[in-house]
Amino acid sequence: MSAHVPKSLFDYGRHRFDVAVECRSCGRVSVFETRDVILHYQAHGWSVALPLDASHFVCRCRSRDVLARATPIEARPRDLPPPRPVLRPLYSKPGRHSG
Ligand SMILES: [Zn+2]
Repeated sequence: MSAHVPKSLFDYGRHRFDVAVECRSCGRVSVFETRDVILHYQAHGWSVALPLDASHFVCRCRSRDVLARATPIEARPRDLPPPRPVLRPLYSKPGRHSG
């Protein structure tokens, strides 16, 4: 992201960046997949424009004093477990044998 200035989270995804959320109280850094953050923000009707409104994140220390920034996908730890391919149904109808 040198010459190009990202305008939204979509630019992070396009340029292979994760979203790192850093707590200014305890220093904890949590890294999220950009696509997940976009889906979460859009589901709530929050803007994905940059600089990102990180006030929706709460650190485990309960602080909301957090900053969101880009971190390259290449920085992911090597021993990261693969993402679980969980496909959730939008809705279900009860089957013949259920109550
Ligand atoms: Zn914290």
